[in-house]
Amino acid sequence: MGVCEHAAVADDCIFCGIVRGDIPAIKVDEDEHTIAFMDIAPWHRGHALVIPRRHVRDVGEASPDDVAHVLRAAQRLAGRMRDRLGHGDVTLANAMGEAAGQTVFHFHVHVVPGLEVDVARRAPEPGELEEIAAKLR
Ligand code: 5GP
Ligand code: ZN
Repeated sequence: MGVCEHAAVADDCIFCGIVRGDIPAIKVDEDEHTIAFMDIAPWHRGHALVIPRRHVRDVGEASPDDVAHVLRAAQRLAGRMRDRLGHGDVTLANAMGEAAGQTVFHFHVHVVPGLEVDVARRAPEPGELEEIAAKLR
């Protein structure tokens, strides 16, 4: 990080570059706290990203206000996808950390119309769900 991670924008962050206007992006929405733009490598037609203007690494470091602003903007965009792209079904996705697939370390929510997420499901081991739930409560 070129500057303190709590700074409003970070020097070496691609998405802060988009916030500053130094890096071009195809914007679809913006408000006081957020910007939404098309993903450069879409998982599916219409894939967009919503980011807070304020630099924050991931959802774990985001403030409750950051989360509220970004999710509100994602909700607005999902509604437009439904109304204008004819997709009632929209996936909201977020990766926190490298092992979860995060590649850009500026909090963002993927908003993807009509995506069927293809995950490999498996039957849980006996007792597994209760054991994990007990740790999460
Ligand atoms: P992540 O993998 O961190 O969940 O998602 C990062 C997303 O940012 C990826 O889907 C990737 O295609 C997108 N992305 C990376 N660099 C750029 C860029 O410079 N412009 C745009 N519009 N999207 C980007
Ligand atoms: Zn940033």
